[in-house]
Amino acid sequence: MAGLSQRMVALGTARSEIREAFAFAQQRIAQVGAQQVEDFSLGNPSVPAPDLVRQTAQALLAEMDPVKLHGYTPAQGDAQVRAALAEDLNRRFGTDYTGDCLYLTCGAAGALCCALSALGCPGDEFITFAPYFPEYKVFVESAGGTLVEVPARLEDFQIDFPALEAALNERTKAVLINSPNNPTGAVYSAATIERLAELLQEKSQAYGHRIYLISDEPYREIVYSDTPLPWVPDYYDHTLVCYSYSKSLSLPGQRMGYVLVPQSVEDFPLLYAALGGAGRALGYVCAPSLFQFVAQRCTGVTADLSIYRQNRDTLLTALRGMGYSCAQPEGAFYLFPQTPEPDAGAFCAKARELDLILVPGDSFGCGGHVRISYCVQPELIQRALPKFEKLARMYGLM
Ligand code: PLP
Repeated sequence: MAGLSQRMVALGTARSEIREAFAFAQQRIAQVGAQQVEDFSLGNPSVPAPDLVRQTAQALLAEMDPVKLHGYTPAQGDAQVRAALAEDLNRRFGTDYTGDCLYLTCGAAGALCCALSALGCPGDEFITFAPYFPEYKVFVESAGGTLVEVPARLEDFQIDFPALEAALNERTKAVLINSPNNPTGAVYSAATIERLAELLQEKSQAYGHRIYLISDEPYREIVYSDTPLPWVPDYYDHTLVCYSYSKSLSLPGQRMGYVLVPQSVEDFPLLYAALGGAGRALGYVCAPSLFQFVAQRCTGVTADLSIYRQNRDTLLTALRGMGYSCAQPEGAFYLFPQTPEPDAGAFCAKARELDLILVPGDSFGCGGHVRISYCVQPELIQRALPKFEKLARMYGLM
């Protein structure tokens, strides 16, 4: 132990409530059978990748020069792949990106680590809004920064602007947003992004250095309202977009994503070079080559995401009908209701006695709530409803 990195030992042994809940569910499934256990712990997409992904992978394996297909690509990704992905963004968002604005990564996690490491200097603070994806803390600290949590407004999980303003200071390097959000499903409107951009512009001027915006968007395509998601760089020039195909194409295990650096970003060429430096220092080498080429040929395609809306509607209506208080998620595949007792861990423990597996909000920096990951088969939700109802009665909600 003495010769090991204390930080890595701590990270490797720290209990992740999400993983622990998933492991518990697996153990119970082995004991009592899959039909008795409803596991809402993980954000692992439940719909298969589209047929086109399999067909494309098969065609690439059959037809492409294997030396190229399985070889290293340049660190930033294959040039033609990047050009195709930039073209797709231009088609969708009316932008004028080139392939040289994209740095391909191992999923959104790789994108975030590269972006944070490219920006992070000792003493830097990165602000995010709680509740938030728990890995943010690990990634920010690995990049040498400090994560500053600003609580979101509890009624709708939108940005609490006075609280944000109070947290911004001369050490702030970037604000990290995630819309559609894990774990709340909250989506930021254009007006919200505009207000955020104005504030960051004002504070950058006041502190005499650029405050960047990092937009973590693995759920970009999973939205329920008809209003299109605002394209964040349209509102703030100094935005880095971190994206992933994990959720939109249901490919979390294939580890494919990117950082988009618009040409408008302050210090564009150096920042892009720093991303390469970060990828190098982290030992990522390049994004998986097979899935770079798959992504190139699957632009504009998603898995059939409609089941998530159906699941959201079923769960939200049922839980509200039972007396649970829950903000309406407008995207992603998570519900974040209030727990009927302040101790979310105690509520989850009672749910577990019924083999209903949930994750306490404390894991996301927001106690008194529970995350329900509804990327599951609809039948599982139907089986779970009587258990939620039993808990509601136990707590006198109905
Ligand atoms: N950011 C958020 C908000 C997430 O929920 C996830 C995964 O669930 C990630 C990043 C990491 O995604 P990836 O699997 O693409 O690395």
